[in-house]
Amino acid sequence: WSRAQTPEPLAWNGAGTTRNLLELVLGRCYSYTQLVRLDLRSKDCPKILDAFKNAFISKNPCNITKEDYEPLLDLVNQTVPCNKSLFWSKSKDLAHQYTRVQGEMFTLEDTLLGYLADDLTWCGDPGSAELNHQSCPHWNECLSNPGSVFWKVISQKFAESACGVVQVMLNGSLSEPFRKSSTFGSVEVFNLDPRKVHTLQAWVMHDIGGISSDSCSSASINELKSIVTERNMTFTCQNNYRPVRFIQCVKNPEHPSCTSEI
Ligand code: NAD
Repeated sequence: WSRAQTPEPLAWNGAGTTRNLLELVLGRCYSYTQLVRLDLRSKDCPKILDAFKNAFISKNPCNITKEDYEPLLDLVNQTVPCNKSLFWSKSKDLAHQYTRVQGEMFTLEDTLLGYLADDLTWCGDPGSAELNHQSCPHWNECLSNPGSVFWKVISQKFAESACGVVQVMLNGSLSEPFRKSSTFGSVEVFNLDPRKVHTLQAWVMHDIGGISSDSCSSASINELKSIVTERNMTFTCQNNYRPVRFIQCVKNPEHPSCTSEI
């Protein structure tokens, strides 16, 4: 075999496919369906892995479409009970810590599809059936890359299927806790179905030790409020929702906001 016969994969600006990607995805699938959520124990993990691979293997990683993930979405087809969906933006760790302790609510990453892919990177190459471990497109390089398309379609489905009262955790330590360009602001809010979702509750959490402000009356949250009310849903907002504050207090038990009722 000469070097010329094994062409180098296309080179991109982002990190390459995560090492042991396929083993990680298959392992996470078994872990989720057999240890975390037994109601999904009849799911066929090898088949799910195959549908995941087929979405992007041997394809140009800047030309991935929603349709490429359709077989995977059809196989998984999980729904979240009404009143149990938690969206988040710029507050991933805190949102996940909260759902782990709370036990009944779901972020996207507490559903099978989000669980399979969280924190992983993946892409293929049009010239081979291999994963590209060298590099993958960064999302500012092309939007139709395997990761961005995946998160966009599963975020859309997650929002479409939500019902009752839904929650979003936002980061009040940022000047713009709500950004229209985020996945929450551009995909999730607009895919909530007002016939099923009557209220969106925002929890605006401030870092402990940072400056405390009334983010609920900020311009950024008002923009979210307008979008939600124009879409015929009720909007409510709370600064530092106490059950989530308690989680932050685990690491800062002596801070005044953790020792008093305020
Ligand atoms: P955010 O700005 O905190 O972004 C969340 C994560 O998604 C970050 O790690 C960011 O690097 C990545 N991301 C954002 N836009 C992306 C894109 N176009 N392509 C690839 N990665 C991208 O918050 P957000 O944008 O509002 O997204 C969070 C919401 O959307 C959550 O409600 C969740 O349901 C969903 N989501 C989750 C992930 C994830 O990595 N687990 C990624 C995108 C969206």
